[in-house]
Amino acid sequence: RKYGDLVGRSPYINGVGRVPVGIGRKRKRVVVTGGAGFVGSHLVDKLIARGDDVIVIDNFFTGRKDNVVHLLGNPRFELIRHDVVEPILLEVDQIYHLACPASPVHYKYNPVKTIKTNVMGTLNMLGLAKRIGARFLLTSTSEVYGDPLEHPQKETYWGHVNPIGERSCYDEGKRTAETLTMDYHRGAGVEVRIARIFNTYGPRMCLDDGRVVSNFVSQAIRKQPMTVYGDGKQTRSFQYVSDLVDGLVALMEGDHVGPFNLGNPGEFTMLELAEVVKETIDPGATIEFRPNTADDPHKRKPDISKAKEVLNWEPKISLREGLPQMVSDFQNRILNEDEGKGN
Ligand code: NAD
Ligand code: UDP
Ligand code: UDP
Repeated sequence: RKYGDLVGRSPYINGVGRVPVGIGRKRKRVVVTGGAGFVGSHLVDKLIARGDDVIVIDNFFTGRKDNVVHLLGNPRFELIRHDVVEPILLEVDQIYHLACPASPVHYKYNPVKTIKTNVMGTLNMLGLAKRIGARFLLTSTSEVYGDPLEHPQKETYWGHVNPIGERSCYDEGKRTAETLTMDYHRGAGVEVRIARIFNTYGPRMCLDDGRVVSNFVSQAIRKQPMTVYGDGKQTRSFQYVSDLVDGLVALMEGDHVGPFNLGNPGEFTMLELAEVVKETIDPGATIEFRPNTADDPHKRKPDISKAKEVLNWEPKISLREGLPQMVSDFQNRILNEDEGKGN
């Protein structure tokens, strides 16, 4: 144990004397990196609700204290402002590693920082997992498939990725993060799990993060035209955030490394998505075409048979069911913004 002896010991560390919660399961200590972000904050809510002790590590690049403010007084919750590119010493049972900007606008803002986060950040969290014997879960992405030549995408597909394009800091970064994860697993015996997440939406997304669902919803609420990039015929498959969180927990608690696709197979063109947003928010909403971004994948749809069979998981919430829940959160935040309280 390289650093372990430096850490003050309590009878609760490393499983000795831990307090049982309910029947048949012990209370776990869990780190969620990126836990002040969109997906991370929903995951933290689920872990706290089931009785775990949760430490969030976040540098607040795209995350917000508002996403976890309701937990700040909870003795089982701890929030650490920290950049995962730097090493950190902690004692926990599980590490959910989410820290990384997910919206193309955010990850292209400082591409070198994005790849450092994916490579050095993941390395540090794997080094931590190795030292303390924690189980490590990587949130990888459907972007590892690039502009796919196989449709729908199965986990066995190796992808079609431009290594030198504007998206590479993110998709090649995540591919390297997957490589590191498997190397620590094979080489150092670290217990790992890999999720490949497909486009996910829901309450707490940044209002203006540039992703398509948040853009269309904000625009329709603000009575602005919805910006469709390119011809709008490219496709994506949209998953509601609670389905993803259930999948992440099932993966972490299960016995299989993965990778597993976690996504909703319902596939929509951007024009179809605009239509659903219009039906949900404002029948008078309009669209406006804009040039598309470089290397935009033409289509994306997960094959989730592996997760269904092995994890007994599948998404439950369709786009038409999930969207209204996101819309009411966005309406409240946009209203507050208009009243000068920020979001
Ligand atoms: P998000 O931007 O809302 O959350 C990311 C969080 O990580 C933020 O709180 C941010 O402040 C934090 N962060 C970023 N860089 C950091 C650093 N260097 N150190 C510490 N914290 C840092 O994004 P999200 O949608 O919640 O995505 C969470 C994870 O899921 C990401 O790893 C993302 O790549 C992955 N993912 C998300 C989607 C999706 O559609 N939401 C799809 C595929 C993969
Ligand atoms: N690390 C960390 N916390 C720990 C243990 C390791 O942040 O508790 C970091 C460490 O600083 C290093 C990385 O994880 O940069 C990889 O650690 P590992 O022990 O695998 O490699 P080494 O330190 O031998 O290069
Ligand atoms: N897109 C769009 N209008 C927007 C934002 C995005 O038409 O205002 C398109 C974008 O070109 C891409 C798709 O929506 O084809 C999904 O983009 P997003 O940034 O949400 O996620 P990606 O899957 O590309 O990471």
